[in-house]
Amino acid sequence: MKTIQTVLEKNYGFDSFRPGQQQIIEAIMNKKDVLAIMPTGGGKSLCYQIPAICMEGTSLVVSPLISLMKDQVDTLQAMGVRAGYINSQMDKSSYHDTMNKAMFGYYDLLYIAPERLDSEHFMNVIQNMKINLIAVDEAHCISQWGQDFRPSYRNIPQLREAFDYPVPFAAFTATATTQVKHDINKQLCLQNPHQYVASFDRPNLYFSVIPTKKKSTDLLKYINNSDSAIIYCNTRKNVETVYHSLVKKRFSVTYYHAGIPADERTKNQEDFIYDRKSIMVATNAFGMGIDKSNVRKVIHYNMPLDMESYYQEAGRAGRDGAPSEAILLYSSQDIITNTFLIEQGNQPHAKDKLNRMISYCKTGKCLRSYILGYFDEVPSWQKCEHCSNCDGNTETMDVTVESQKILSCIYRMNQRFGTGMVTDVLRGKNNERIRSLNFNQLSTHGIMSDYNDNTIKDIISLLISEGFLSLSGDKYPILTFTTKTNQLLKAEVTLSMTRKIVEDVRKSSKK
Ligand code: ADP
Repeated sequence: MKTIQTVLEKNYGFDSFRPGQQQIIEAIMNKKDVLAIMPTGGGKSLCYQIPAICMEGTSLVVSPLISLMKDQVDTLQAMGVRAGYINSQMDKSSYHDTMNKAMFGYYDLLYIAPERLDSEHFMNVIQNMKINLIAVDEAHCISQWGQDFRPSYRNIPQLREAFDYPVPFAAFTATATTQVKHDINKQLCLQNPHQYVASFDRPNLYFSVIPTKKKSTDLLKYINNSDSAIIYCNTRKNVETVYHSLVKKRFSVTYYHAGIPADERTKNQEDFIYDRKSIMVATNAFGMGIDKSNVRKVIHYNMPLDMESYYQEAGRAGRDGAPSEAILLYSSQDIITNTFLIEQGNQPHAKDKLNRMISYCKTGKCLRSYILGYFDEVPSWQKCEHCSNCDGNTETMDVTVESQKILSCIYRMNQRFGTGMVTDVLRGKNNERIRSLNFNQLSTHGIMSDYNDNTIKDIISLLISEGFLSLSGDKYPILTFTTKTNQLLKAEVTLSMTRKIVEDVRKSSKK
Protein backbone atom coordinates (compact mmCIF):
# COMPACT_ATOMS: atom_id res chain seq x y z
CA MET A 1 0.00 0.00 0.00
CA LYS A 2 1.23 3.51 -0.85
CA THR A 3 1.91 5.75 2.11
CA ILE A 4 0.11 9.05 2.32
CA GLN A 5 3.39 10.97 2.44
CA THR A 6 4.59 9.36 -0.81
CA VAL A 7 1.31 10.18 -2.55
CA LEU A 8 1.52 13.78 -1.33
CA GLU A 9 5.02 14.12 -2.73
CA LYS A 10 4.88 11.94 -5.85
CA ASN A 11 1.36 12.59 -7.11
CA TYR A 12 0.75 16.13 -5.88
CA GLY A 13 4.29 17.46 -5.69
CA PHE A 14 3.75 18.99 -2.22
CA ASP A 15 6.22 18.48 0.62
CA SER A 16 3.98 18.94 3.63
CA PHE A 17 0.39 18.77 4.73
CA ARG A 18 -1.62 21.83 5.62
CA PRO A 19 -3.12 22.06 9.10
CA GLY A 20 -5.73 19.38 9.63
CA GLN A 21 -5.14 17.43 6.43
CA GLN A 22 -3.02 14.59 7.81
CA GLN A 23 -5.34 13.91 10.77
CA ILE A 24 -8.39 13.85 8.47
CA ILE A 25 -6.67 11.44 6.08
CA GLU A 26 -5.59 9.16 8.91
CA ALA A 27 -9.07 9.16 10.43
CA ILE A 28 -10.58 8.09 7.11
CA MET A 29 -7.98 5.35 6.68
CA ASN A 30 -8.85 4.13 10.18
CA LYS A 31 -12.47 3.87 8.99
CA LYS A 32 -13.67 6.76 11.11
CA ASP A 33 -16.32 9.24 10.01
CA VAL A 34 -15.10 12.80 9.44
CA LEU A 35 -16.63 16.26 9.50
CA ALA A 36 -14.25 18.88 8.14
CA ILE A 37 -15.01 22.56 7.89
CA MET A 38 -12.34 24.44 6.01
CA PRO A 39 -12.51 27.68 4.05
CA THR A 40 -12.55 27.67 0.27
CA GLY A 41 -9.04 27.04 -0.96
CA GLY A 42 -8.14 25.36 2.33
CA GLY A 43 -7.32 22.06 0.65
CA LYS A 44 -10.33 19.84 1.27
CA SER A 45 -10.13 17.77 -1.91
CA LEU A 46 -6.79 16.27 -1.03
CA CYS A 47 -8.23 15.02 2.28
CA TYR A 48 -10.45 12.48 0.54
CA GLN A 49 -8.38 11.98 -2.59
CA ILE A 50 -5.27 10.72 -0.80
CA PRO A 51 -7.11 8.01 1.19
CA ALA A 52 -8.94 7.08 -2.02
CA ILE A 53 -5.62 6.61 -3.77
CA CYS A 54 -4.07 4.67 -0.87
CA MET A 55 -6.93 2.34 0.06
CA GLU A 56 -8.15 -0.71 -1.82
CA GLY A 57 -11.48 -0.31 -3.58
CA THR A 58 -13.34 2.74 -4.82
CA SER A 59 -14.24 5.97 -3.03
CA LEU A 60 -17.52 7.62 -3.99
CA VAL A 61 -17.44 11.41 -4.02
CA VAL A 62 -20.82 13.14 -3.95
CA SER A 63 -20.53 16.61 -5.42
CA PRO A 64 -23.24 19.06 -6.48
CA LEU A 65 -21.22 20.91 -9.09
CA ILE A 66 -21.20 19.10 -12.39
CA SER A 67 -18.90 21.66 -13.99
CA LEU A 68 -16.25 21.23 -11.30
CA MET A 69 -16.48 17.46 -11.35
CA LYS A 70 -14.96 17.23 -14.81
CA ASP A 71 -12.10 19.61 -13.90
CA GLN A 72 -11.28 17.64 -10.77
CA VAL A 73 -11.32 14.33 -12.65
CA ASP A 74 -9.15 15.74 -15.45
CA THR A 75 -6.61 16.97 -12.91
CA LEU A 76 -6.57 13.62 -11.13
CA GLN A 77 -6.18 11.70 -14.39
CA ALA A 78 -3.30 13.96 -15.36
CA MET A 79 -1.67 12.97 -12.06
CA GLY A 80 -2.05 9.31 -13.00
CA VAL A 81 -4.96 8.65 -10.65
CA ARG A 82 -7.83 6.43 -11.81
CA ALA A 83 -10.77 8.79 -11.46
CA GLY A 84 -14.11 9.00 -13.24
CA TYR A 85 -17.43 10.77 -12.97
CA ILE A 86 -21.06 10.16 -13.71
CA ASN A 87 -23.57 12.93 -14.24
CA SER A 88 -26.74 13.70 -16.13
CA GLN A 89 -24.89 15.59 -18.84
CA MET A 90 -22.89 12.64 -20.21
CA ASP A 91 -24.01 10.59 -23.23
CA LYS A 92 -25.20 6.99 -22.96
CA SER A 93 -22.07 5.33 -24.21
CA SER A 94 -19.76 7.19 -21.80
CA TYR A 95 -22.19 6.36 -19.01
CA HIS A 96 -22.09 2.62 -19.80
CA ASP A 97 -18.37 2.69 -20.30
CA THR A 98 -17.83 4.35 -16.91
CA MET A 99 -20.28 2.05 -15.14
CA ASN A 100 -18.57 -1.02 -16.63
CA LYS A 101 -15.18 0.12 -15.45
CA ALA A 102 -16.66 0.94 -12.05
CA MET A 103 -18.14 -2.53 -11.73
CA PHE A 104 -14.76 -4.11 -12.33
CA GLY A 105 -13.22 -1.98 -9.62
CA TYR A 106 -11.16 0.14 -12.00
CA TYR A 107 -11.63 3.45 -10.21
CA ASP A 108 -9.93 4.84 -7.12
CA LEU A 109 -12.39 7.72 -7.17
CA LEU A 110 -15.84 7.96 -8.70
CA TYR A 111 -17.52 11.38 -8.61
CA ILE A 112 -21.30 11.45 -8.72
CA ALA A 113 -24.04 14.08 -8.52
CA PRO A 114 -26.47 13.41 -5.64
CA GLU A 115 -29.37 12.85 -8.07
CA ARG A 116 -27.62 9.65 -9.17
CA LEU A 117 -28.64 8.02 -5.90
CA ASP A 118 -32.27 8.09 -7.10
CA SER A 119 -31.35 5.48 -9.72
CA GLU A 120 -32.04 1.91 -8.73
CA HIS A 121 -29.64 0.66 -11.39
CA PHE A 122 -26.84 2.77 -9.99
CA MET A 123 -27.55 1.66 -6.41
CA ASN A 124 -27.48 -1.99 -7.55
CA VAL A 125 -24.16 -1.55 -9.26
CA ILE A 126 -22.42 0.10 -6.33
CA GLN A 127 -23.71 -2.54 -3.95
CA ASN A 128 -21.61 -4.99 -5.90
CA MET A 129 -18.52 -2.82 -5.79
CA LYS A 130 -15.98 -2.56 -3.04
CA ILE A 131 -16.67 0.94 -1.67
CA ASN A 132 -14.14 2.21 0.87
CA LEU A 133 -15.37 5.78 1.48
CA ILE A 134 -18.34 8.05 0.89
CA ALA A 135 -16.98 11.59 0.62
CA VAL A 136 -19.64 14.30 0.67
CA ASP A 137 -18.38 17.53 -0.80
CA GLU A 138 -20.26 20.81 -0.10
CA ALA A 139 -21.97 18.94 2.72
CA HIS A 140 -23.89 22.06 3.84
CA CYS A 141 -26.23 21.39 0.89
CA ILE A 142 -27.90 18.74 3.06
CA SER A 143 -29.11 21.36 5.51
CA GLN A 144 -32.06 23.67 5.13
CA TRP A 145 -30.01 26.12 7.14
CA GLY A 146 -27.28 26.11 4.50
CA GLN A 147 -27.38 28.74 1.79
CA ASP A 148 -27.93 26.24 -1.00
CA PHE A 149 -30.08 23.40 0.22
CA ARG A 150 -30.29 20.51 -2.25
CA PRO A 151 -33.17 18.10 -1.60
CA SER A 152 -31.31 15.34 -3.44
CA TYR A 153 -28.62 15.45 -0.73
CA ARG A 154 -31.20 13.83 1.51
CA ASN A 155 -30.65 10.64 -0.52
CA ILE A 156 -27.11 10.28 0.74
CA PRO A 157 -27.95 8.71 4.13
CA GLN A 158 -29.48 5.70 2.36
CA LEU A 159 -25.92 4.72 1.47
CA ARG A 160 -25.48 3.96 5.17
CA GLU A 161 -27.54 0.80 4.78
CA ALA A 162 -26.35 -0.14 1.31
CA PHE A 163 -23.28 -2.10 2.35
CA ASP A 164 -22.87 -5.04 4.69
CA TYR A 165 -19.41 -3.87 5.73
CA PRO A 166 -18.40 -0.61 7.43
CA VAL A 167 -17.87 2.34 5.08
CA PRO A 168 -16.70 5.66 6.57
CA PHE A 169 -18.51 8.88 5.66
CA ALA A 170 -16.48 12.05 5.33
CA ALA A 171 -18.34 15.37 5.05
CA PHE A 172 -16.61 18.53 3.79
CA THR A 173 -17.85 22.08 3.67
CA ALA A 174 -16.55 25.62 3.63
CA THR A 175 -19.53 27.21 5.30
CA ALA A 176 -21.09 25.84 8.42
CA THR A 177 -22.72 27.61 11.29
CA THR A 178 -23.59 25.60 14.41
CA GLN A 179 -27.01 24.78 13.00
CA VAL A 180 -25.60 23.55 9.71
CA LYS A 181 -22.91 21.53 11.46
CA HIS A 182 -25.49 19.94 13.68
CA ASP A 183 -27.68 19.16 10.68
CA ILE A 184 -24.84 17.56 8.71
CA ASN A 185 -24.02 15.32 11.67
CA LYS A 186 -27.64 14.34 12.13
CA GLN A 187 -28.68 13.89 8.50
CA LEU A 188 -25.61 11.90 7.54
CA CYS A 189 -25.81 9.93 10.82
CA LEU A 190 -22.12 10.54 11.40
CA GLN A 191 -20.87 8.22 14.15
CA ASN A 192 -18.57 9.91 16.60
CA PRO A 193 -16.79 11.69 13.75
CA HIS A 194 -13.30 13.14 13.73
CA GLN A 195 -14.06 16.86 13.53
CA TYR A 196 -11.79 19.47 12.11
CA VAL A 197 -12.78 23.12 12.02
CA ALA A 198 -10.22 25.42 10.47
CA SER A 199 -10.08 29.08 11.40
CA PHE A 200 -12.09 31.24 9.08
CA ASP A 201 -10.00 34.30 9.68
CA ARG A 202 -8.40 35.83 6.61
CA PRO A 203 -5.74 38.13 8.08
CA ASN A 204 -4.75 39.66 4.74
CA LEU A 205 -8.27 40.93 4.00
CA TYR A 206 -9.36 44.41 5.04
CA PHE A 207 -13.13 44.53 5.48
CA SER A 208 -15.20 47.64 5.02
CA VAL A 209 -18.83 48.60 4.86
CA ILE A 210 -19.44 51.89 3.08
CA PRO A 211 -22.86 53.43 3.62
CA THR A 212 -23.61 55.35 0.44
CA LYS A 213 -26.40 57.13 -1.32
CA LYS A 214 -24.64 57.36 -4.66
CA LYS A 215 -23.12 53.99 -5.38
CA SER A 216 -22.16 54.63 -8.98
CA THR A 217 -20.00 57.59 -7.93
CA ASP A 218 -18.62 56.07 -4.75
CA LEU A 219 -17.65 52.89 -6.58
CA LEU A 220 -15.08 54.88 -8.58
CA LYS A 221 -13.08 55.60 -5.42
CA TYR A 222 -12.28 51.94 -5.02
CA ILE A 223 -11.29 50.78 -8.47
CA ASN A 224 -8.40 51.36 -10.85
CA ASN A 225 -6.97 49.72 -13.92
CA SER A 226 -3.96 48.10 -12.31
CA ASP A 227 -5.62 46.06 -9.57
CA SER A 228 -7.68 43.01 -10.31
CA ALA A 229 -11.17 43.46 -8.83
CA ILE A 230 -14.54 41.73 -8.84
CA ILE A 231 -17.69 43.85 -8.51
CA TYR A 232 -20.71 41.79 -7.49
CA CYS A 233 -24.20 43.08 -8.33
CA ASN A 234 -27.51 41.51 -7.36
CA THR A 235 -29.14 41.44 -10.80
CA ARG A 236 -28.12 40.99 -14.42
CA LYS A 237 -29.54 44.42 -15.14
CA ASN A 238 -27.31 46.03 -12.52
CA VAL A 239 -24.30 44.14 -13.88
CA GLU A 240 -24.92 45.60 -17.32
CA THR A 241 -25.54 49.11 -16.04
CA VAL A 242 -22.36 49.16 -13.96
CA TYR A 243 -20.37 47.52 -16.74
CA HIS A 244 -21.47 50.07 -19.39
CA SER A 245 -20.79 53.01 -17.11
CA LEU A 246 -17.26 51.74 -16.42
CA VAL A 247 -16.62 51.14 -20.12
CA LYS A 248 -17.58 54.75 -20.76
CA LYS A 249 -15.08 55.85 -18.16
CA ARG A 250 -12.41 53.78 -19.92
CA PHE A 251 -11.87 51.18 -17.27
CA SER A 252 -10.38 47.84 -18.24
CA VAL A 253 -13.54 45.92 -17.52
CA THR A 254 -15.56 42.87 -18.53
CA TYR A 255 -18.79 41.30 -17.28
CA TYR A 256 -20.44 37.99 -16.50
CA HIS A 257 -23.92 36.69 -15.76
CA ALA A 258 -25.96 33.62 -16.65
CA GLY A 259 -27.88 35.46 -19.38
CA ILE A 260 -24.82 36.00 -21.60
CA PRO A 261 -24.28 33.44 -24.41
CA ALA A 262 -21.94 30.64 -23.28
CA ASP A 263 -19.02 31.43 -25.60
CA GLU A 264 -19.03 35.11 -24.72
CA ARG A 265 -19.23 34.22 -21.05
CA THR A 266 -16.19 31.96 -21.33
CA LYS A 267 -14.27 34.63 -23.19
CA ASN A 268 -15.10 37.29 -20.59
CA GLN A 269 -14.13 34.95 -17.78
CA GLU A 270 -10.80 34.19 -19.42
CA ASP A 271 -10.11 37.86 -20.13
CA PHE A 272 -10.35 38.41 -16.41
CA ILE A 273 -8.49 35.31 -15.28
CA TYR A 274 -5.56 35.93 -17.62
CA ASP A 275 -5.41 39.61 -16.61
CA ARG A 276 -6.40 40.93 -20.03
CA LYS A 277 -9.14 42.85 -18.20
CA SER A 278 -8.66 44.12 -14.64
CA ILE A 279 -12.24 44.41 -13.48
CA MET A 280 -15.01 41.84 -13.57
CA VAL A 281 -18.60 43.00 -12.99
CA ALA A 282 -20.75 39.95 -12.27
CA THR A 283 -23.68 38.34 -10.56
CA ASN A 284 -23.02 35.60 -8.03
CA ALA A 285 -22.99 33.16 -10.98
CA PHE A 286 -19.32 34.12 -11.31
CA GLY A 287 -16.63 32.71 -9.13
CA MET A 288 -17.53 29.18 -8.14
CA GLY A 289 -14.51 27.02 -8.83
CA ILE A 290 -12.44 29.91 -10.15
CA ASP A 291 -8.99 29.95 -8.68
CA LYS A 292 -7.60 33.41 -9.46
CA SER A 293 -5.14 34.22 -6.74
CA ASN A 294 -4.33 37.90 -7.35
CA VAL A 295 -7.79 39.47 -6.94
CA ARG A 296 -7.04 42.61 -4.88
CA LYS A 297 -10.61 43.76 -4.27
CA VAL A 298 -14.01 42.21 -4.05
CA ILE A 299 -16.62 44.95 -4.06
CA HIS A 300 -20.26 44.24 -3.37
CA TYR A 301 -22.39 46.80 -5.17
CA ASN A 302 -25.45 45.34 -3.45
CA MET A 303 -25.94 43.67 -0.09
CA PRO A 304 -26.06 39.86 -0.45
CA LEU A 305 -28.90 37.89 1.12
CA ASP A 306 -26.82 36.20 3.80
CA MET A 307 -23.42 36.20 5.47
CA GLU A 308 -22.45 32.81 4.07
CA SER A 309 -22.73 34.09 0.48
CA TYR A 310 -21.03 37.34 1.43
CA TYR A 311 -18.04 35.70 3.04
CA GLN A 312 -17.67 33.16 0.28
CA GLU A 313 -17.68 35.87 -2.40
CA ALA A 314 -15.55 38.33 -0.43
CA GLY A 315 -13.11 35.47 0.23
CA ARG A 316 -12.19 35.41 -3.46
CA ALA A 317 -9.98 38.42 -2.74
CA GLY A 318 -6.36 37.81 -1.77
CA ARG A 319 -6.09 34.07 -2.24
CA ASP A 320 -2.33 34.61 -2.69
CA GLY A 321 -2.08 35.99 0.85
CA ALA A 322 -1.20 39.54 -0.23
CA PRO A 323 -3.09 42.49 1.31
CA SER A 324 -6.53 42.79 -0.30
CA GLU A 325 -9.90 44.34 0.38
CA ALA A 326 -13.50 43.25 0.79
CA ILE A 327 -15.78 46.26 0.39
CA LEU A 328 -19.54 46.36 0.75
CA LEU A 329 -21.39 49.39 -0.59
CA TYR A 330 -24.55 49.65 1.40
CA SER A 331 -27.73 51.69 1.08
CA SER A 332 -31.07 51.34 2.79
CA GLN A 333 -32.59 50.47 -0.59
CA ASP A 334 -30.67 47.16 -0.31
CA ILE A 335 -32.75 46.20 2.71
CA ILE A 336 -35.98 46.92 0.85
CA THR A 337 -34.89 44.96 -2.23
CA ASN A 338 -33.63 41.98 -0.25
CA THR A 339 -36.69 41.82 1.99
CA PHE A 340 -38.84 41.82 -1.13
CA LEU A 341 -36.76 39.05 -2.73
CA ILE A 342 -37.03 36.90 0.36
CA GLU A 343 -40.77 37.36 0.59
CA GLN A 344 -41.06 36.11 -3.01
CA GLY A 345 -39.19 32.90 -2.26
CA ASN A 346 -39.99 30.23 0.26
CA GLN A 347 -36.53 29.53 1.63
CA PRO A 348 -36.82 28.66 5.31
CA HIS A 349 -34.80 30.86 7.67
CA ALA A 350 -34.07 33.38 4.90
CA LYS A 351 -35.41 36.26 6.99
CA ASP A 352 -33.19 35.43 9.97
CA LYS A 353 -30.18 35.25 7.75
CA LEU A 354 -30.97 38.53 6.05
CA ASN A 355 -31.27 40.13 9.49
CA ARG A 356 -27.76 39.02 10.34
CA MET A 357 -26.54 40.44 7.03
CA ILE A 358 -28.22 43.77 7.79
CA SER A 359 -26.59 43.79 11.22
CA TYR A 360 -23.21 43.40 9.56
CA CYS A 361 -23.87 46.59 7.59
CA LYS A 362 -25.04 48.56 10.60
CA THR A 363 -22.98 47.27 13.45
CA GLY A 364 -20.38 49.45 15.07
CA LYS A 365 -18.48 46.35 16.25
CA CYS A 366 -15.31 45.03 14.66
CA LEU A 367 -16.40 43.59 11.30
CA ARG A 368 -13.98 40.68 11.43
CA SER A 369 -15.17 39.65 14.89
CA TYR A 370 -18.71 39.91 13.60
CA ILE A 371 -17.91 37.55 10.72
CA LEU A 372 -16.00 35.06 12.84
CA GLY A 373 -18.73 35.18 15.48
CA TYR A 374 -21.26 34.37 12.79
CA PHE A 375 -19.31 31.21 12.02
CA ASP A 376 -19.13 30.42 15.74
CA GLU A 377 -15.48 31.21 16.07
CA VAL A 378 -14.31 33.22 19.06
CA PRO A 379 -11.77 35.76 17.86
CA SER A 380 -8.74 36.49 20.01
CA TRP A 381 -9.29 40.27 19.78
CA GLN A 382 -11.99 42.86 20.48
CA LYS A 383 -10.82 45.22 17.77
CA CYS A 384 -8.84 43.91 14.82
CA GLU A 385 -7.57 47.35 13.67
CA HIS A 386 -7.98 46.05 10.16
CA CYS A 387 -11.58 46.80 9.23
CA SER A 388 -13.52 50.00 8.64
CA ASN A 389 -15.05 49.91 12.14
CA CYS A 390 -11.71 49.46 13.89
CA ASP A 391 -9.28 51.70 12.09
CA GLY A 392 -10.93 54.97 13.04
CA ASN A 393 -12.12 55.86 9.54
CA THR A 394 -15.72 55.16 10.37
CA GLU A 395 -16.85 56.46 13.70
CA THR A 396 -19.20 54.31 15.63
CA MET A 397 -21.83 55.46 18.05
CA ASP A 398 -22.97 53.65 21.16
CA VAL A 399 -26.75 53.32 20.99
CA THR A 400 -27.26 51.32 24.20
CA VAL A 401 -29.13 54.13 25.97
CA GLU A 402 -31.26 54.88 22.91
CA SER A 403 -32.06 51.17 22.67
CA GLN A 404 -33.10 51.07 26.31
CA LYS A 405 -35.45 54.00 25.75
CA ILE A 406 -36.99 52.26 22.77
CA LEU A 407 -37.37 48.97 24.63
CA SER A 408 -38.92 50.64 27.67
CA CYS A 409 -41.43 52.33 25.43
CA ILE A 410 -42.35 49.07 23.71
CA TYR A 411 -42.79 47.49 27.14
CA ARG A 412 -45.08 50.29 28.30
CA MET A 413 -47.11 49.94 25.11
CA ASN A 414 -47.64 46.29 26.09
CA GLN A 415 -45.70 44.90 23.12
CA ARG A 416 -48.71 45.28 20.86
CA PHE A 417 -47.57 47.80 18.23
CA GLY A 418 -45.30 48.10 15.22
CA THR A 419 -42.33 50.31 14.40
CA GLY A 420 -44.35 53.31 13.19
CA MET A 421 -46.48 53.66 16.31
CA VAL A 422 -43.54 53.09 18.68
CA THR A 423 -41.56 55.76 16.83
CA ASP A 424 -44.44 58.24 17.04
CA VAL A 425 -44.73 57.77 20.81
CA LEU A 426 -40.98 58.11 21.33
CA ARG A 427 -40.93 61.32 19.31
CA GLY A 428 -43.84 62.65 21.33
CA LYS A 429 -46.49 62.93 18.65
CA ASN A 430 -49.83 63.89 20.05
CA ASN A 431 -52.47 62.78 17.57
CA GLU A 432 -55.91 61.43 18.24
CA ARG A 433 -54.95 57.79 18.11
CA ILE A 434 -52.13 58.29 20.59
CA ARG A 435 -54.44 60.17 22.93
CA SER A 436 -57.21 57.58 22.62
CA LEU A 437 -54.75 54.91 23.76
CA ASN A 438 -53.44 57.17 26.52
CA PHE A 439 -49.92 56.85 25.17
CA ASN A 440 -49.41 60.59 25.66
CA GLN A 441 -49.46 59.77 29.41
CA LEU A 442 -46.56 57.32 29.21
CA SER A 443 -43.26 58.31 30.79
CA THR A 444 -41.60 57.35 27.52
CA HIS A 445 -43.78 59.68 25.44
CA GLY A 446 -41.44 62.14 23.78
CA ILE A 447 -38.22 60.84 25.37
CA MET A 448 -36.63 60.77 21.94
CA SER A 449 -38.10 64.00 20.60
CA ASP A 450 -34.64 65.22 19.61
CA TYR A 451 -34.09 62.27 17.26
CA ASN A 452 -35.62 62.01 13.83
CA ASP A 453 -37.91 59.20 12.66
CA ASN A 454 -35.30 57.47 10.53
CA THR A 455 -32.71 57.26 13.29
CA ILE A 456 -35.21 55.65 15.63
CA LYS A 457 -36.37 53.26 12.92
CA ASP A 458 -32.77 52.42 12.13
CA ILE A 459 -32.03 51.55 15.73
CA ILE A 460 -35.20 49.44 15.88
CA SER A 461 -34.15 47.53 12.79
CA LEU A 462 -30.71 46.95 14.32
CA LEU A 463 -32.45 45.69 17.48
CA ILE A 464 -34.43 43.27 15.31
CA SER A 465 -31.46 42.09 13.29
CA GLU A 466 -29.37 41.63 16.45
CA GLY A 467 -32.17 39.58 17.99
CA PHE A 468 -33.15 41.97 20.81
CA LEU A 469 -36.63 42.43 19.32
CA SER A 470 -38.76 40.18 17.24
CA LEU A 471 -41.22 41.22 14.59
CA SER A 472 -44.32 39.06 14.45
CA GLY A 473 -48.07 39.21 14.12
CA ASP A 474 -50.80 37.95 11.80
CA LYS A 475 -52.31 41.15 10.50
CA TYR A 476 -49.49 43.65 10.85
CA PRO A 477 -45.99 43.33 12.30
CA ILE A 478 -45.72 43.87 16.05
CA LEU A 479 -42.53 44.47 18.03
CA THR A 480 -42.08 42.06 20.92
CA PHE A 481 -39.29 41.16 23.35
CA THR A 482 -37.03 38.14 22.91
CA THR A 483 -35.04 36.09 25.40
CA LYS A 484 -32.10 38.45 24.77
CA THR A 485 -33.96 41.72 25.42
CA ASN A 486 -33.27 41.82 29.15
CA GLN A 487 -29.52 41.70 28.65
CA LEU A 488 -29.69 45.02 26.87
CA LEU A 489 -32.17 46.58 29.30
CA LYS A 490 -29.85 45.67 32.15
CA ALA A 491 -26.85 46.91 30.12
CA GLU A 492 -25.15 43.53 30.39
CA VAL A 493 -24.42 44.00 26.70
CA THR A 494 -24.02 47.11 24.60
CA LEU A 495 -25.08 48.02 21.09
CA SER A 496 -23.33 50.30 18.66
CA MET A 497 -23.93 51.52 15.19
CA THR A 498 -21.81 53.19 12.51
CA ARG A 499 -22.13 56.94 13.02
CA LYS A 500 -22.04 57.61 9.28
CA ILE A 501 -25.44 56.00 8.95
CA VAL A 502 -26.82 58.00 11.83
CA GLU A 503 -25.46 61.26 10.44
CA ASP A 504 -26.74 60.57 6.95
CA VAL A 505 -30.14 59.85 8.35
CA ARG A 506 -30.14 63.03 10.42
CA LYS A 507 -29.24 65.14 7.42
CA SER A 508 -31.86 63.59 5.20
CA SER A 509 -34.63 64.19 7.69
CA LYS A 510 -33.75 67.90 7.97
CA LYS A 511 -34.54 68.44 4.29
P1 ADP B 1 -10.94 23.49 -1.33
O1 ADP B 1 -11.59 22.29 -1.96
O2 ADP B 1 -10.85 23.41 0.15
O3 ADP B 1 -11.51 24.79 -1.80
P2 ADP B 1 -8.66 22.64 -2.80
O4 ADP B 1 -8.69 21.25 -2.36
O5 ADP B 1 -9.13 22.96 -4.18
O6 ADP B 1 -9.44 23.56 -1.78
O7 ADP B 1 -7.20 23.21 -2.58
C1 ADP B 1 -6.89 24.56 -2.83
C2 ADP B 1 -5.49 24.70 -3.39
O8 ADP B 1 -4.53 24.36 -2.39
C3 ADP B 1 -5.25 23.75 -4.56
O9 ADP B 1 -4.54 24.46 -5.54
C4 ADP B 1 -4.41 22.63 -3.93
O10 ADP B 1 -3.58 22.00 -4.88
C5 ADP B 1 -3.61 23.39 -2.87
N1 ADP B 1 -3.17 22.51 -1.76
C6 ADP B 1 -3.95 21.67 -1.04
N2 ADP B 1 -3.23 21.04 -0.09
C7 ADP B 1 -1.95 21.48 -0.20
C8 ADP B 1 -0.71 21.21 0.49
N3 ADP B 1 -0.65 20.35 1.49
N4 ADP B 1 0.39 21.87 0.09
C9 ADP B 1 0.33 22.76 -0.93
N5 ADP B 1 -0.79 23.06 -1.62
C10 ADP B 1 -1.92 22.45 -1.27
